[in-house]
Amino acid sequence: MSSMLRAWRAVERRWQTWPRGLRHACRVLALGGLLALGTGLVYLTGGTRYAYPYLMLIPVLLAGAWYTWRGALLVALLAGLLMAAMPLSVDTGESQTPLNWMIRLGLYLVIGGFAGGLFERLRQSYISVERASRTDPRAGLPNEIALEADLARRLKRATRQDAHSVGVVMVRIEDIGEIVEALGADACDELMVAISQRLARLGPNLQGSYRVGGAELVLLFWPVGLDELERLARKAADLGEDNLMALGVPLRVQLVLGSSLQGGRNASPGSLIREARIAMLAASEKHRVYCHFQPSFARRSVQNVQLISRVRRGLAQGEFELHYQPKLRLADGRVSGFEGLIRWRDEHGHLIAPGLFMPKVENTTLIAPVTRFVMSEACKFARRHGGRVSINFSARNLMDDLLLEELGQLVKQSGISPSQLEVEVTESALVLDLFAAKQALERIRGCGIQVSIDDFGTGFSSFEYLRHLPITGLKIDRAFVEGLEQDERARKLMACLIDVGHALDLEVTAEGVETQGQHHILQKLGCDQAQGFLYSKALPVEELLAWHHERERLLRQGDSLSIHQAYQNVPPR
Ligand code: C2E
Ligand code: CA
Ligand code: CA
Repeated sequence: MSSMLRAWRAVERRWQTWPRGLRHACRVLALGGLLALGTGLVYLTGGTRYAYPYLMLIPVLLAGAWYTWRGALLVALLAGLLMAAMPLSVDTGESQTPLNWMIRLGLYLVIGGFAGGLFERLRQSYISVERASRTDPRAGLPNEIALEADLARRLKRATRQDAHSVGVVMVRIEDIGEIVEALGADACDELMVAISQRLARLGPNLQGSYRVGGAELVLLFWPVGLDELERLARKAADLGEDNLMALGVPLRVQLVLGSSLQGGRNASPGSLIREARIAMLAASEKHRVYCHFQPSFARRSVQNVQLISRVRRGLAQGEFELHYQPKLRLADGRVSGFEGLIRWRDEHGHLIAPGLFMPKVENTTLIAPVTRFVMSEACKFARRHGGRVSINFSARNLMDDLLLEELGQLVKQSGISPSQLEVEVTESALVLDLFAAKQALERIRGCGIQVSIDDFGTGFSSFEYLRHLPITGLKIDRAFVEGLEQDERARKLMACLIDVGHALDLEVTAEGVETQGQHHILQKLGCDQAQGFLYSKALPVEELLAWHHERERLLRQGDSLSIHQAYQNVPPR
C-alpha cells in the first residue's frame, strides 16, 4: 500500500513539474474526451432511457476537482446540452420530454456545484494547513520547511544559470539563555521577529528570513557571490545587534553568524543549511562574530564525532590507563601523594595525551564513564600502595548526582581512608555555577574526601569565592611557577598566592616545577607541596613504584641535592 502511495506521489510530483499551460491543456482535453466518450456510450447503448447518462457525472466531478464550482457548472451545462440532443431511445427515435432533460440538467448542475464547492473547501483547508506547516507558530515567521522548499526552488533555478549562486546565512542569538531566564520565552519570540524585520533592510538579494530554531534565523540570498555574501553577513551582525526591544525592555543581543554558498550543481537545501550551521558553530567556538563555511570545519566536526565514538569503544576495550605523577612535600622532600592522570593507549599501541581527547570528552556525557574508570583505578592504587591520590573532576562530573553517590560508595567499599583520596576541580569549572558547585563539593567533603582547586589563579578574578567553598587545598597554576627565577614580581605574586592559601588553612601545591631554582624558591616561600617534571612526569604504576623506591634509597643516603637531576623523567618537548 505504501509503495502504491509512494508511486502516486512520484507521479504527482512529476505532474507538478509540467508547465502550467500544458497541464491546463491536458485537463481540458481530458474533460472534452470524457464528455465525448459519455455521449458516444449513451448513444451506442440505446439512448438516455438507460443508465449510462450518469457517466457524464465523471467529467463534471473532475471539473469540480480541477476548476472548483465554476468549472463543474460549465461542464455540467455542456453535459446537459449534449444529453438534450440525445433521443430517449435510439432504436425508435423517440425524443426526451423537455421536463426529463431539464431534470437531468438540474441534477448535473446541483451535483457539479456541490462537488465544486466541496473541492474548493478542501483546497482552502489544504492551503491553510500547508501555510501553517510552513510557519513558525510562535513568531509567525516562515520555518525550516518553508526554507527547504524555497531553497530547493532557488537551487534548481540557480544551477541552470551558474553565475547566480544561492547563499545562506545562519544567525543565532548567543546570549539567548540569559534573555529567556530574565524575560521568558515570549521575549525570545519577539526578538526573533524584531531581528528579522531589522534584517529585511539588507537589500534586494535577501529572498527571505526563516526561523529554524528557538534562537536561530536563516537568511536566504539570491543571486549572490562570496564577497557580497560575506559583506551582507557582517552587515547583518551590525544591524541585528543594535538596540532591540523585547517585552518593553531595551536590549542589546550578541549574534553569531555562519554562512555557506552553493558550491556546485550538487548542492542541496540540507547541505547548505548544515554548512551554514557548522560555520556558525565554528565562529562561536573561535569567539568570532562570523565565519564562512570551510570544508575543514566539517572535517573537524566529523573527527569530533569519530573521536567520541573511538573513546567509547576504547573504554569498553580497556584501552585507558591511569598514570601517576608524584607530589613532593617541600619541607622534607618526601613523596606526599600522587595525581592520577589518564592516558589512552589506542589500538595501535600509541599513547595519547589527555589534552587531545579530554576537552572533547568533557563536553559529552561520556565524561561520566571515563571518570568512573579513573575513580576506580585511583582507589585500587591507594589501597595497594598507600599514600594519597588525587583525581581530576570536570564541571559535568560535579553536576552528576549519581557519580557523586558512586564516589562515596566506592571509597567505602575499597576500604581506604577517605582522606587518601583528593578531587581536583579547576577554578573555571567551579565558577560556571558557583552555587551548584558548592553543593557538590559539600557532598564530596561530607564523605571525608579532600577537595583542591586546580589551575588556581587562571580562572577567576576574585578570591572572595574561596571563603564560601569547603575546600582543603590550592594548586597554583604552572604559569605562576614559570617566571619564578627571572622575575621578582613573579616571586611576589607567588608569595601572595601562597599566603592566600595559608590564610584560609589550605594546603598549597605548586604545579609545573621544572628546575632546581624554582624548587628552592618555592621551599623558601613556604609552599607545602610541589609537582612537576623536575621530580617525575606521570608514570605507569610499575615504573612509578620503581622511581619511588630509588628515590627513598637516595634520600636515606642523604643525597638530596643530586636526587632531582638523577631521577627526573622529563618528557620530550
Ligand atoms: P592538570 O590536571 O593541570 O594536570 C597537570 C598536567 O601538567 C599534566 O598533563 C601533567 O603531565 C603536566 N605537567 C606536570 N608537571 C609538569 C611540568 O613540570 N611541566 C609541564 N609543562 N607540564 C607538567 P596531562 O597529563 O597531559 O594532563 C593534561 C590535562 O588533562 C590535566 O591538566 C587535566 O586537566 C586533564 N586530565 C588528565 N587526566 C584527567 C582525568 O582523569 N580526568 C579529567 N577530567 N581530566 C584529566
Ligand atoms: Ca589536575
Ligand atoms: Ca593543573
